[in-house]
Amino acid sequence: MEIINRRQRMASLARKLRRENKTIGFVPTMGALHEGHLRLVNEARQMCDIVIVSIFVNPTQFNDKKDLEKYPRDLTTDASLLAEYQVDYIFAPEANEIYPDGFSTYVYVEGIAEGLEGASRPGHFRGVATVITILFNNIRPDFAFFGQKDAQQCSVVKRLTLDLGFDTEIIVVPTVREENGLAMSSRNTRLTIDEREKASIIFQGLKEAKLAFKNGERNATVLEQIVRDKIETEPLARIDYIAVVDNSTLEPIESVEDNEVLIAVAVYFGEVRLIDNTIINRRQ
Ligand code: AMP
Repeated sequence: MEIINRRQRMASLARKLRRENKTIGFVPTMGALHEGHLRLVNEARQMCDIVIVSIFVNPTQFNDKKDLEKYPRDLTTDASLLAEYQVDYIFAPEANEIYPDGFSTYVYVEGIAEGLEGASRPGHFRGVATVITILFNNIRPDFAFFGQKDAQQCSVVKRLTLDLGFDTEIIVVPTVREENGLAMSSRNTRLTIDEREKASIIFQGLKEAKLAFKNGERNATVLEQIVRDKIETEPLARIDYIAVVDNSTLEPIESVEDNEVLIAVAVYFGEVRLIDNTIINRRQ
């Protein structure tokens, strides 16, 4: 395994691998790796000849400066984990390698990037779309792996891949959870033990809505209220949003018909903002 810091070196290496007809799997991350990330890496390892993982805490996608400062960073531990998972290359550039002086070109995905996380975190998806474009352009992977936990991010990345004509297939991997149901996240380490236990209420709320749907509930407002009522039983939880939207357009819906529907939530525990989601559809 080699750790690469320079964009140019990453690009020339990827070019060489493509000439050798190797399939390249790419897993973009911000480090502080947990089992969720490692599931993506595992998937990439099974599907591709070469696995490249990027570790880059992307400053442009943080709308909250404190969140950026407090974001956990530990390249040594991350690298040893990735070595165990037979990763071939880690791309870990410094911020000025990605955003050199005078940088002024950004990618903005209209529509699907504007609601939910986009509305709560202005500029977030501009940062995500920009860094993913730079990384895809640099590496030109055959497959790129993203987690269902960040459902809107998956939609945004699929849209930009299509619109900008990248020859990369986006693979979405199911959310990995802690034993109590809490979706794994690098931010979970900033929760107290008590908060971490109580944050499982988010998953319980989503599960209740899913159960109500299975029992015939189709009204989006009612499904949303079921999640809200459950989460509000936990005094430490402060709901940012709960949304019931079409999973492809991310537009709000009134009732669940034939399309896949995404129930997405963002909840604060103290200063830490957690997101999670579930998909419901008639075939379940
Ligand atoms: P991050 O380091 O938070 O930017 O996440 C990097 C990738 O890992 C993204 O595609 C995330 O959606 C994915 N990811 C994060 N947490 C999980 C999880 N609990 N299960 C599955 N994928 C995850």
